[in-house]
This record gives sequence, C-alpha cells and structure tokens, in this order.
Amino acid sequence: MALKYIEEYRDALLAKDLIKKIHAVSKKNLRLMEVCGTHTMSIFRHGIRSVIPDTITLLSGPGCPVCVTAQKDIDAFVEFARVKDVIVTTFGDLIKVPGSGSSLGKEKAAGADVRIVYSISDAVHIARENKDKQIVFCAVGFETTIPTIAAGILMAIAQKVDNFSIYSANKLTPPALAALMETKGVQIDGFILPGHVSVITGTNAYRGTFEKYAIPSVIAGFEPIDILKAILLLIQQNESGIPALENAYPRAVSDQGNLKAKQIMNQVFEVCAASWRGIGEIPLSGMGLKKEYQAFNAAAKFGMDMPDVPEPKGCACGQILMGLKTPEHCALYKKKCTPLTPVGPCMVSSEGACAAFYRYA
Ligand code: SF4
Repeated sequence: MALKYIEEYRDALLAKDLIKKIHAVSKKNLRLMEVCGTHTMSIFRHGIRSVIPDTITLLSGPGCPVCVTAQKDIDAFVEFARVKDVIVTTFGDLIKVPGSGSSLGKEKAAGADVRIVYSISDAVHIARENKDKQIVFCAVGFETTIPTIAAGILMAIAQKVDNFSIYSANKLTPPALAALMETKGVQIDGFILPGHVSVITGTNAYRGTFEKYAIPSVIAGFEPIDILKAILLLIQQNESGIPALENAYPRAVSDQGNLKAKQIMNQVFEVCAASWRGIGEIPLSGMGLKKEYQAFNAAAKFGMDMPDVPEPKGCACGQILMGLKTPEHCALYKKKCTPLTPVGPCMVSSEGACAAFYRYA
C-alpha cells in the first residue's frame, strides 16, 4: 500500500512491523552510514538506534554542509568580516563555527557587520539596500541549496545588483561517497542516501558510485517509517549478498531528479575540486562559478586565498564524517567541547553528529 500522508510515516504499528522484520532478517554485523545530517537527527529524535539490533552500527556521514566545510573556508569567512565596508551574510549555524583564530560570531561581537539570512535572496536584498557596502554571501551547501544560490545570482543580475558576491564552498554528494570508498580504514556496508539531495540529483546520480563499488545503497525520506524501511532494505541486500541501488523515497525522488533546478545550477556553476574537512581535496566534488559569472566571485573580488590549516587540535570531526569514529571517541566530547563551547563544526551544526549525540545519546 502506498502511503500518502505524513502521519502514516510515523505510524506505530507500521514501525513495529518493520522493526520485527529487521530483527528477523539481521544476522551479520553491519556498519550502515546515514550520509545526511538530517537523517542523523531524525534517527536520534525517533529513537531508532535503540530499536534496531546491536549488530547494526549506524554511522554519521559527510552530509552536513557546515560540518564538511574546511577550516580554511571558515577562516576566509572570518577574513571577509574584517574587511572595511563588507557585510557578511550567512546561514545561522556557520556563525558559531570556530575558525583558526576567530569565528563569524566573535567578529560580529567585535563590531563586524555579519548578518544571518534565511535565503540568498535576503542577501541580495541587503545588497540592494546598502549600495555603499559590499555584500559577501557564505555559500555552503549541497545539491539542495546550490540551485537556490544560482537563482540568487541570476536575481542579482536581473536587478543590476553589482555590490554582491559569494564565496563558494558548495559541494556535491556522490564524489564524497566515492572518496569514502577509496579511503583506507573506512568500512561501510551500506549507504542511507540523502532524501532532499536526491530530490534534486535523482537516483541516477548515484549509479556511477554504485556500479563501481557495488555498495548497498538506499535513498530514504526522513520520517521514522522511511528510515526503518531503508535499514531493512540495506540489511536484506547485505544478507542476500545482492547489492542494489534502491529508491525508498519515490514520493519525492525520481530517476532524473529536478531538471529545472539542475539546469539553473549548471548555468551558473561548474564542477571543480573542493576541500572537505578531514577528507581533504576531492576532485570534481565542488561547484565554482563559471567564467561568465566571475563578477560574483568574492574570493577573486577580494583576492582571498586562505592557506590550508589543520583542524582544531584534538577534534575528530574529520574522522567522524568518514565513519572512522563516533563522537564518544573524541577526547574533547562533553569535556572541552559542548554546544556552548564548540571546538569543531560537528558540535555546532543542528545537523552535526556531535550535537546529535550530545542532545540525544
Ligand atoms: S566533540 Fe567537538 S572536538 Fe570532538 S569531534 Fe565533535 S566537534 Fe570535534
């Protein structure tokens, strides 16, 4: 029976039935990675870890955009905030992420003009209202967000706003999954693939990774029934020895994805290398502005080229994002690093693994 309404995806009887099936079919020890931070939070919020067999380990992956932003990019945002007559616009979580020496929040407290926005169109609006200032938008997002950023740039062009630019730390999901599969020591038996990214990319975006690594992969929505179903499918694939790429979120995800969103994204951006926290540079995993949109490139406009810097001493965010550690394995967790005194981004972001463990585990 196809489910239509949100309540059905939270139905206790359906959940109990799926949990029963999971326990019945589960034999092997398996390490399943929920790639997306929204899945991590939903898994904790609905207590899913406590109802699945002990043989199943759930790992948080590199799908929280704030968490995977490299330290040097955080440093660049801080530097922009220090430039005279610049207004830095950012999504909320980024403001608290510590850079090497400061954070956007600290710069704001010291008098810099740093403003939280809810969309890039807010940033374009600020630019329109402040013609004597330069507005820099911290572009941190995956395939879900990048089309909106592209649309914001097209909006700025249409409205002749020329005091606006972005610093692109945008990233693509499939290349990160391939990079994980190539990383020594990483052991993953299946991916719970991100629902909202897949709405844009479509199922086909993962075919290359799936075919190369034959890794069980299931696209899932964010309700408890969605997640339990994905876990069951991944266990069944592992137990049968027949990996598959399955779409368990067909009410939102198609094979092709959102063609219009992808067209806007590819009109403004082109694929480039990107630096990922803890993972390093992954070829073809970022989205930089195309040549014809370089007037909106804040890094070029301000000559901003920050050096690579290591993660904060003792912070295991990078290893957590690769599934090599869980937050309890970080010596700073709940001691020096708490939501009030975050050391790394995984404790800051509302989708971060450390924040989720701290709040729910
Ligand atoms: S607990 Fe804090 S220091 Fe440790 S990995 Fe998480 S964010 Fe980094």
